[in-house]
Amino acid sequence: MADLTPTPDRPGLHVSKPSPSAPATASAVCHCGASATATGDTQVRALVEGWSADHGPAHGRK
Ligand SMILES: [Zn+2]
Repeated sequence: MADLTPTPDRPGLHVSKPSPSAPATASAVCHCGASATATGDTQVRALVEGWSADHGPAHGRK
């Protein structure tokens, strides 16, 4: 699992949901220096939406 965690050297967004009954977790590191983590389905969804809107591939669209 550690291999999938984003780092400043390997920026990205990673979401994990170990089982249907377990809360999702997410971690994100952007090449701009921003980073974030979230735990829980609602928080993870918000992180992914915010990240997609403002970071990661979004940088190339602005
Ligand atoms: Zn960014």
